Amino acid sequence: MSPEALLQTAAAIAESPTGVSSTFTSEEFDDYVMKTYARYPITLERGAGCRVWDTEGREYLDFVAGIATCTLGHAHPVMVEAVTQQIQTLHHVSNLYYTSAQGELAKCLVNHSCADRAFFCNSGAEANEGAIKLARKYAHTVLGIADPVIITAHASFHGRTLATITATGQPKYQKDFSPLVPGFHYVPYNDLAALEQAIADLDKDERRVAAILLEALQGEGGVRPGDQAYFQRIREICDQKGILLICDEVQVGMGRTGKLWGYENLGIEPDIFTSAKGLGGGIPIGAMLCKEFCNVFHPGDHASTFGGNPFACAVALAVCQFIERENLLANVQERGEQLRAGLQSIAARYPDKVAEVRGWGLINGLEIKPDLELTSAQVVQSAIDQGVLLVPAGPKVVRFVPPLIVNAAEVDQAIQAVDQAFASL
Ligand SMILES: *Cc1c(COP(=O)(O)O)cnc(C)c1O
Repeated sequence: MSPEALLQTAAAIAESPTGVSSTFTSEEFDDYVMKTYARYPITLERGAGCRVWDTEGREYLDFVAGIATCTLGHAHPVMVEAVTQQIQTLHHVSNLYYTSAQGELAKCLVNHSCADRAFFCNSGAEANEGAIKLARKYAHTVLGIADPVIITAHASFHGRTLATITATGQPKYQKDFSPLVPGFHYVPYNDLAALEQAIADLDKDERRVAAILLEALQGEGGVRPGDQAYFQRIREICDQKGILLICDEVQVGMGRTGKLWGYENLGIEPDIFTSAKGLGGGIPIGAMLCKEFCNVFHPGDHASTFGGNPFACAVALAVCQFIERENLLANVQERGEQLRAGLQSIAARYPDKVAEVRGWGLINGLEIKPDLELTSAQVVQSAIDQGVLLVPAGPKVVRFVPPLIVNAAEVDQAIQAVDQAFASL
């Protein structure tokens, strides 16, 4: 579809009477909405493809994509069609009943992953809560562990609920929210010796380690890919000891790495994994999937009012089918290589400013030299000034997570903006 046609679709939607005022100011916004975010002073109004426009009519190339969420970009005709169709047919009932949309989406995810069963919720944190509960129930009822521990990694990110900030190995997200949830232990990421030592220590007197929860690539923690040998050895340890391996695929799942699931880059299969961000292309949905042997939930064990409703599931199904039908993973791989090559050449041009470029597919990070005062926030601000939206992953890493439909010219534009940022900072 041409950008003009995409724009027309978006404009037609913008004209529909939703009651949203186009003149609501950011000052007024802050009078009503809690200040839990440090927002950029930009009010976004509409989007089409990989571009968004603010209320002043300024255009931005969107390499944030709702933080790795808008898989098909903005106002994609496939999303528009799925949303329109399903809202007119059946949008929400309850998990008191069966719906085809939920069943179809589960079938699609199961057929395209290592898992056998799916549970649906509405966000990444909720999906991880489900995984934590499933692992604990498995520990109590199958492994006979009275006081289970889940091992997670430093610099991980698993969400903002109480259990998931506890699982998250970053004190800044836990500060002021104690008492945290018991039963978590942290190890440095990609450090096998530390993990083996932790398991030995925790299991010294009685068996306690129930699960290891890791991101295949740490997203928020600085775009750090998992090490193949590390994950393969963890898989062996888990098999030997009967520990569950849980992959948090919330940011990297649904094709972002150039494979459908992040764990495919590591040559392992988790026992449980979670998905959310890109799953619905920007419609809120989360999923927790597991293999049959650890499918220990029974009616009443876990639930969500909105989880798996036909609206969210039909849209996610359309996104999944589009990825397969259009062979979108090939685009993710090609554009990812182009982006990394461009960022590598920037690193070569500014060797005293750039420490490293790393990532998989269309999740990439550019790390700034640690000894410099320069921050990722400054680079992001310079890119925004040039009309390109980027997002930091921590104070030193600039993250690139465009829609998976991004084209070569758009990747070039983003590279040029980053080059310009380093030239001027
Ligand atoms: C974003 C993220 C989450 C949390 O997802 P929410 O939808 O914000 O609850 C969990 N894990 C990872 C790896 C994430 O990137």
